[in-house]
Formats: sequence, C-alpha cells, structure tokens
Amino acid sequence: MSLQEQKERLVKLQQKMAAYGHAEGLIYFDGTTGAPKGTAENRAQTLGILSEELYNLSTGQDTIDLLEDLDAHREELSDKEKRQVDLLLKDIRMMQKIPLDQYIEFQKLMVEADDVWHTAKEDNDWKLFEPVLERVFDFHKKIAAWCEPEKAPYDYWLDHFEEGLTMEKCESFFASLKGRIVPLLHRVQEKPQLDTSILHGHFPAAAQEAFSYELMKLIGLDLDHVGLATTEHPFTTSIGSHLDERITTHYHEEDFSSSMFSVIHEGGHALYDTGSDRDLAYTVLDGGVSMGIHESQSRFYENILGRSRAFCEYIFPSVQKHFPQVQGTAEEFYRAVNRAEPSLIRTEADELTYALHIMVRYELEKKIFAEEIQVKDLPAEWNRLYKEYLGIEVPDDKRGVLQDSHWSGGCIGYFPSYALGSAYGAQYLRKMKETVDVDGCIRKGDFAPIGEWLRERIWKYGSFLTPAQVFENAVHEPFDPTVFTDYLEEKYTELYGL
Ligand code: ZN
Repeated sequence: MSLQEQKERLVKLQQKMAAYGHAEGLIYFDGTTGAPKGTAENRAQTLGILSEELYNLSTGQDTIDLLEDLDAHREELSDKEKRQVDLLLKDIRMMQKIPLDQYIEFQKLMVEADDVWHTAKEDNDWKLFEPVLERVFDFHKKIAAWCEPEKAPYDYWLDHFEEGLTMEKCESFFASLKGRIVPLLHRVQEKPQLDTSILHGHFPAAAQEAFSYELMKLIGLDLDHVGLATTEHPFTTSIGSHLDERITTHYHEEDFSSSMFSVIHEGGHALYDTGSDRDLAYTVLDGGVSMGIHESQSRFYENILGRSRAFCEYIFPSVQKHFPQVQGTAEEFYRAVNRAEPSLIRTEADELTYALHIMVRYELEKKIFAEEIQVKDLPAEWNRLYKEYLGIEVPDDKRGVLQDSHWSGGCIGYFPSYALGSAYGAQYLRKMKETVDVDGCIRKGDFAPIGEWLRERIWKYGSFLTPAQVFENAVHEPFDPTVFTDYLEEKYTELYGL
C-alpha cells in the first residue's frame, strides 16, 4: 500500500472512531439528561456493543500495523499526521504492556469500585470502600510499573492525565501556593465575613434558564452548536466532534448564583472545545488537549472574568431583569459572589480556597504511592490535612475522604491539573492585558476580543500541541505560580480590607 493510501486510511480510521464516539456520546448524554428511568438496561446493552467495536477498531492488528508503518515513515508525514499517529499509538503501546487478563481485571475492578463508592458515600461507610480502594491503588502501582518502570509510579499517573507533569513540578507549584494562600486565608478569617444575602430568595428555574441562555450568548458561545440541559452535576461534553457541544447545569431555586457560575464555567470548557480549527473535526486532535488546559479556560471565564468587579457591574442589571426580587447594588453583588470561606466540599469551594482542597488530595496520593501511608490511613490523614490547610474539622467521611468520584473512577493523579488550570489563568490575564483592555471590554459586554485572544493562542490548536506547548504559546514565558498568588492577594486584600 502506498503512503498516500495509508494516510487516507488514517483519516478514515479517525472518522470511524469519531462516529462511534458520536453514538456513544449521544446515548450517554441522553441517559444523564432526559431518558425515562427504566431505559438504563437498553443503553447499557448498546453501549457495551459499541465500546467493544470501538476497542477492536482502535487496537486491532490492522490498526496497529497501519500506525506503526506510518510511524516508520514519520519524516514524510505532516506535523498534524505525526501528532495523530503519536496520540493513537500512545494508548495502544500502553495497553500492549499490560497483560490482557490484567487489563480485563482492571476494567472490572473499576466498575466494582465505582459501584462500591456510591454506596459507601451514601451510607458514610469508609470501611466498605477501604478494601476496594486498596486494590485500586495497588493496581495503579502495577500499571505504572508495567508501562514505565523507570519512572516513579505517581509521576507516571500525573503525566497520564497532564502530559509533562511531574511530582517535582507539583512540589514547587504547591509550595508556592501554600506559602501565600494559607496566611492570606488566615488574614481574611480575622475580618468580618462578606454578606451574601443578595443571592438568596426564590428564583424559579424557568427564569434561571432564560438567564443561562443570555450568559451563553454573552460570553460568545454559538448556540447553533452548543446546547444546554440540566443534570445533577454540571458537565460539558463534545458529541462526535467540536461541532456539537453540550453543557449542563443544575438550578437551585434558593440561590441563582450557583447555576449562573456553573454555566459560565461549563461555557468556558465549551468555548475551548468549539474553538478547535474546523479541519481538526473527526480526528483525535479535535477538542481540548488536557484537563489542566481545559480548567484553565473554564476557571478563567468563571472566576477571573465572571467574578471580576467589571463583570458584576455589567451583568447586575440583567440579574435584576430576570430576578426582579434582587435588591441592592452591583457592588454588593460583587462582594457576595467573592465570599471566601474554608469549606468541606471541593466542588463548592471559592476561588481563594480551591487550591487547598487540591493540595490535600495531592499530598495523600503522593504518600500512598511512596508507601509513606496506607489506604487505611486515608480518613485520618485527610482530616488532619483539612485542619492544617483549611483550619476546619471534618465531621464525617461522606463530607471528607469519600466525597470525590475520582479515585473510584480511575482518576488517581488527576486532581493537580485543576489547580494548575486555575494558576495558568492568572498568567493569561496578565499577558492578555498587554494588548486587550479586558475590563473595558467586559464593561461593554463585548467578549469578542477576549475570545479572539484565546482562540488564536489556545483554542484553535485543539490537541495538536502538548499542554506545555499550549501554555508557552499563549504567554511566551515560563509558568510562574506567583502571578496567581499575586492576583489572589490583590483581589482579597481589597475585598476584605486587609
Ligand atoms: Zn471544569
């Protein structure tokens, strides 16, 4: 077969994978949004068959032969083709190193772990979860040893979720954060708390939904390509390609700000995905490259833009239009949505304390991989670190060590990317301000120059560049976490009159 024919097969392969992804994505989305209660079995049946087909397609011998052939002629491939081959081969090579029976065992363990975690969390029963979590961590150690024996196992998993991330990088990053955020939080806590009463009342879901669509349009989402639905936990997903993106939210009728900032957050994810260059559709380069870069977009829109004074002043008249019962001023609204307070639940944490929640998880994962602590020590260690970093007592495991789905979902090593994303955002802002009047644009409700800046430097590349390359390409300087801590210090010093 000629190289040209092989290149055409590479295109077809990815189109086919995207088509399976499209079908799976829609079925999954339907299940989380509107499907009748009794239809889960039907979906499981179809998803089981589709995922087996997709697995066979992406790891079958024909595919391996094609990719290895193309890899052997890589100097004749375009840069995009090279990256496609590398990304496709990365997963195959990983799976080739894991004995097949162990791979199947691992898949089964993860289904079991997820199931046990749900029950354990609901019943606040750590002892139920402990043995299965022990097996999950042990399996992660084994996989790391099979795949990259020369690497520390935790480094393997950090890199797995955020290409290029290591413990060494995390150490200096988190040390820098801890050294500034913990004392800043202590100073904040000595001051009178900010008043949030302006956010509370009764806000009908229908009014909140109308507001959601206004926010989506405002930040620049194309509603012909981005849909909105409601789910228990908000998320964003691409269906088949970046040309069909869905975000979800959850309306709490007693507090409109919860859904408001969820929509802006998920909207940031959707802007990133839908900003991929058109020619990346139906390839593995379509959509965002990593969770770290993804969170750097969603948290940038949610916090850095959405919780800025300029945005609160711009949006407050709209808030009052949708919710006429909201009294007070834009300044009161700004202060209410920026209240900082140590809390138990990561997903509800404010901008200042969020990274501390991540650091607790990072420390624990690191110590387990280093065998400094055992899985059975996790609840006590969790509670100790919450006391040390956030100054709070954890009343039960349900609101403590059992709160996240990540460990039971096979996402060990995933958390640091959230904090990294937050920190990246502050550096984008500093760089963006060199050429864009960010506050001036927001005050006019004109998000286009901000979106253009991000599109040109980040979104359009999809997964073509590595996460580190994306960041460097955006700011043309090394990552510096003090930009983030300076940003926090300035913001909270002013807010709390420190
Ligand atoms: Zn997110």
